[in-house]
Amino acid sequence: KNETAAKYVQSVYETVIKRNPHEYEFHQAVKEILDSLIPVFEKHPKYMNHSILERIVEPERIVSFRVPWLDDNGNVQVNRGFRVQFNSAIGPYKGGLRFHPSVNASIIKFLGFEQIFKNSLTGQPIGGGKGGSDFDPKGKSDNEIMRFTQSFMTELYKYIGPDVDVPAGDIGVGAREIGYMFGQYKRIRGGNEAGVLTGKGIIYGGSLTRTEATGYGCVYFVNEMLKSKGLDYKDSRVVISGSGNVSIYAMEKAQQLGAKVIACSDSSGYIYDPNGISLETVKRLKEVERKRISEYVNEHPQAVYTEGCEGIWSIPCDIALPCATQNEINEESAKILVANGVKAIGEGANMPSTLEAIEVFLNNGVLFGPAKAANAGGVAVSALEMAQNSMRLSWTFEEVDAKLHSIMQNIYANAVKAADEYGYSGNLVVGANIAGFIKVADSMIAQGV
Ligand code: GLU
Repeated sequence: KNETAAKYVQSVYETVIKRNPHEYEFHQAVKEILDSLIPVFEKHPKYMNHSILERIVEPERIVSFRVPWLDDNGNVQVNRGFRVQFNSAIGPYKGGLRFHPSVNASIIKFLGFEQIFKNSLTGQPIGGGKGGSDFDPKGKSDNEIMRFTQSFMTELYKYIGPDVDVPAGDIGVGAREIGYMFGQYKRIRGGNEAGVLTGKGIIYGGSLTRTEATGYGCVYFVNEMLKSKGLDYKDSRVVISGSGNVSIYAMEKAQQLGAKVIACSDSSGYIYDPNGISLETVKRLKEVERKRISEYVNEHPQAVYTEGCEGIWSIPCDIALPCATQNEINEESAKILVANGVKAIGEGANMPSTLEAIEVFLNNGVLFGPAKAANAGGVAVSALEMAQNSMRLSWTFEEVDAKLHSIMQNIYANAVKAADEYGYSGNLVVGANIAGFIKVADSMIAQGV
């Protein structure tokens, strides 16, 4: 029986590789999930009988489109846009848009695939989707951003809607970009379908706490892991990679809970501040002035800036929160973190640890909060934004924050429970994947082929 489940998983994985050649990030995300589901198929052969895996690894739909736009010199530029509508078994497709030069079909599919299970874990009725473009926002003027996002939406609007597919932000897409896209959607469609995008500005249908949600949620999740071992944030040394939206609000909440955040980074390098990072400076540099993190040391001479990103993981710390991008912690960095005595990892970014790095953490008894669970707070508050838009009302910051907190506690409890139930106590990778999978799989069975 064991062999059958393992063989089933292996054969589906081989099909994925064959059908999606060279899409290594997608293969990686699929492998992580599929391997952890073997105990589910052993216990419940019905999922094999209904060919759930074969179906779940194939997106319901993927669109790829041309995005032409005029730069400030009047030259025509062309980028490629994507939207993957991966799974709608439990609700409308939901997931962010990423604007980054590395974006391709593999990146969008890995993100969309992860989103299915993450969204299910939140306990809210949202399916899995993702999109984006290889457009590089770095160094672009405000007008160029506007023209690009308008052109992007001029094609994307055909595929989305408040009950169909609801995009939001991700790397390179924040409130400014969502605002321009919402404006364009409204111009084309007429009316005011507020629920078509989330992460909107507060004054036109956005939700309080959405900006903070991913970072706060990640810190809340790690807090649950720490509590299980009688630990907390008080006086702990925390290293947080990135300095974007997720990272900034993870720093804020960690500091509020008494931690000392000693390092953060951007795609060029990292800063180490033994006095503790000044969040005020990082927020101004990144959110207002849109500058590089290296500028931090001009105002804080005790801090040190180092070129390159990997080195941040060699700073000794108690808690590490990778909040930058995929595969930012490899096996070697994981070993250094372990050797330096790290106690907990919380993945604020999507798939920031390689499969080998995860093995290192789990084998060394490090508390490990996988992305699907630890960073689900962002999309969870997006779903709360959709709910508020449907009801035409807005909740207070405290109300949304309290809901976010209890959602993160529930995700933690459900992942722990699933891990226990299937014989993997303490392994939240397996627990989160199983808990996320069951609901989607049962819905797919209920809805027929
Ligand atoms: N991009 C975020 C994620 O990876 C948020 C998606 C959303 O709010 O829809 O989950």
